[in-house]
Amino acid sequence: MRETDYFGPRGDAPIFRSLEQVAAPIGAECIECGEPIEEGETGFMQGLVRRGESGPVVERVPVHDSCLLLSTSGHQYGVCLCPEREAEFAGWSKREMALELTRRMSAR
Ligand SMILES: [Zn+2]
Ligand SMILES: [Zn+2]
Repeated sequence: MRETDYFGPRGDAPIFRSLEQVAAPIGAECIECGEPIEEGETGFMQGLVRRGESGPVVERVPVHDSCLLLSTSGHQYGVCLCPEREAEFAGWSKREMALELTRRMSAR
């Protein structure tokens, strides 16, 4: 089984060349921000191991591409909850921060 597939409009990042496109799981919750996937959004399907009734089971769960980037590159672009920036993003949802990161990345 492949580890990761993507859904939604394909970006031009090299990563998409090695992944397969699957139908967008409209309405399913993103594992990072908890908000439902909407039409036209891009993201990945990831294998997540959960505890099932008779042992661990692998579930395929969606995550927004921007939400993934937030956890890996947010700090670099000044969108994070480090002590020095905590006040700036107080009250923001994770999704709002992810979209702000996308704006900052495409502005460069
Ligand atoms: Zn998300
Ligand atoms: Zn930071």
